[in-house]
Amino acid sequence: MSEKGTGEQGTGDRAASGPVVELRNVVKTFGGSAGRVQALSDIDLSINAGEFISLIGPSGCGKSTLLRIVGDLISPTSGDVIVNGKPAHRARLDRDYGMVFQAPVLFDWRSIQANVELPLEILGLSRTERRERAERMLDLVELGEFRAHHPWQLSGGMQQRAAIARALTLEPKLLLMDEPFGALDEMTRERLNAELLRIWERSGSTVVFVTHSISEATFLSTRVVVMSPRPGRIAAVVDVDLPQPRNADTREEPRFFELVTEVRDRLREGGLDEESTAPGEGELIVAEETP
Ligand code: ADP
Ligand code: MG
Repeated sequence: MSEKGTGEQGTGDRAASGPVVELRNVVKTFGGSAGRVQALSDIDLSINAGEFISLIGPSGCGKSTLLRIVGDLISPTSGDVIVNGKPAHRARLDRDYGMVFQAPVLFDWRSIQANVELPLEILGLSRTERRERAERMLDLVELGEFRAHHPWQLSGGMQQRAAIARALTLEPKLLLMDEPFGALDEMTRERLNAELLRIWERSGSTVVFVTHSISEATFLSTRVVVMSPRPGRIAAVVDVDLPQPRNADTREEPRFFELVTEVRDRLREGGLDEESTAPGEGELIVAEETP
């Protein structure tokens, strides 16, 4: 992810790029003394460079499991996970995307600035470059004036923004987010949604985003992947043909409401509607460069 403003990874070259993620016949079964759970069945999905994909579905349908498989945090029981044309594990070793951190994993004894700098420190970047990058990202998430604060001095939403800033300092090509705004109030969530789209536009990165909010998925995504439970599978994929860039006005457009309705209908066909999609833990996972 470029943050230097040179635009070399901008949106222009998106169309030319091939798939960043390819899932073929992915199955995941969790075993153990307590019994077996088939979490995912027959998952086929191809994600192109620069797409913004949301995974939506009721609690327990395997969204987090699928995201973790893409991030090579866990292996599928069977099937292929191809990232940048090679097995996900190989891609991770090659640093096509790196270690996947969960957030907010902010260290209380470090300032916000020092938290955001941490991955850059591990990579061995110079003090000056670390500071510059961290400051730019903190400004982007509007936490510039809180850089000297400690995590416990910030609200939950601000901590989540700090976690996002930290993830972005590593310029990930592939951003994996698991209900990052789930615990926030609606106003904050809408503002962060707009911010995230701005970052996505600028960086040209590919995002896979888990949410249980139909309107959030519709507003953010180029495609919404609707999942159904027991076992988790892809029930439908909805193309979101709303123009870019999107802003507050997008939410007022008739087409936006049509698409929201379509996603809701697909969820119902899949067996459950929005009311039964319980909020997740509001965790954030980001593919980052491996130190
Ligand atoms: P979602 O994120 O959509 O709420 P998850 O991917 O967390 O769903 O879980 C899908 C299913 O797999 C659930 O039935 C869950 O209990 C089960 N599951 C997830 N992780 C594990 C695990 N490590 N061991 C056993 N079962 C698991
Ligand atoms: Mg989950």
